Amino acid sequence: MLTFSIGDMTVTEICDIRSFDIPLTNIFPQSDYQKLQSHLHWLEPNLLRDGNVRLAVRSWLLKRNGRNILVDACVGNHKQRPARSDWHERNDTSWTEALADAGLQPEDIHIVFCTHLHADHVGWNTKLENGQWVPTFPNARYITGQSEYAHWEAEMAASDGPVGHGCFQDSVLPVMELGQMDLVTDGFQLADGLVLKLSAGHTPGHMSIYASCEGYTGVFCGDTLHSPIQMVQPGWSSAFCSDPLLARQTRITLLEDLCDTSRILIPMHFGNTGRCHVTRHKDVFMPVFLD
Ligand SMILES: [Zn+2]
Repeated sequence: MLTFSIGDMTVTEICDIRSFDIPLTNIFPQSDYQKLQSHLHWLEPNLLRDGNVRLAVRSWLLKRNGRNILVDACVGNHKQRPARSDWHERNDTSWTEALADAGLQPEDIHIVFCTHLHADHVGWNTKLENGQWVPTFPNARYITGQSEYAHWEAEMAASDGPVGHGCFQDSVLPVMELGQMDLVTDGFQLADGLVLKLSAGHTPGHMSIYASCEGYTGVFCGDTLHSPIQMVQPGWSSAFCSDPLLARQTRITLLEDLCDTSRILIPMHFGNTGRCHVTRHKDVFMPVFLD
C-alpha cells in the first residue's frame, strides 16, 4: 500500500484497477509513436508496452485533522457498463479491502470529492442494495463542481439513452436525490488547506485540488493528465476530453505552474503510482518520480 505525506496530511492510494492497457492512438488520437523514441528508456515497460499506454484507476484517501477525504471513486461494483467489458458488472472487493487496510470503513469517510463525473471517477459513490443504488458512504458529503453537474444533467436531459455509460444515473443522481451532494465553484475550500481549482477541458467542470499543508503542496490533477507521456507531449489530449484544445491549455498551465518547484503532481491514472515533481529537460517537461 502506497502512503505518503504532504506536511501533516497522510495520503494513501486506494486502487480499483491496478493496470490496464490501451493502444496509444486510441487514448491519444493525435499521438505519433516515433515522437516518443527518445523517451522509451523511461516509459517502457511500466508506462508504455508494445505500443499500449499502461494506466491504472485509483482513488486517493486524504487523512488530516481527524477528517477522511476520498478523492474520486473509480469504477465500482455491479454497474451496467456493457460498452466497457472491464467495467461491466464488476464484483471485486480489492478497493474496499484497500480502504479497510487503511483503517477505515465506508462509514468513516467525511467527504467524497469527484474531480469530474466520468464513470471511472464516480463508481464507488453508490452500491447496490436490494436492487437500489444507495450511497456507499452514508456519513459523507459528496462534492463536485457545479458546472460539471450542470453539464451532465443537460446531457442526460437531451439524450434518450444512457449518458457517460449511465454513471450519472446510477452513481450521481441517487446521492443528489438523498441530499448528500454539494455543488461548488472555483476556489471552494474542501477542508483546511485544500482548495479546489477549476481545470476545465477534459470535462467542462473538471476540478483539481491544490493541497497545502505545513508549507508542502501537492496537486491532485484528476484527468488533466492521464499519463506522463503528456508531459513530453502536452499537446496530446485524450480521446475522452470534451474540449481537447482547452484540455491542452489547462495541462500546459498546470505543468508550467509545477515546473521546477517543490510542488508535487499526484495523478489518478498513471500506470506507475506516479507521484512526481515536474522539471524541464531539453524543452520538454519531464517527471521526477518520487517512488
Ligand atoms: Zn475522465
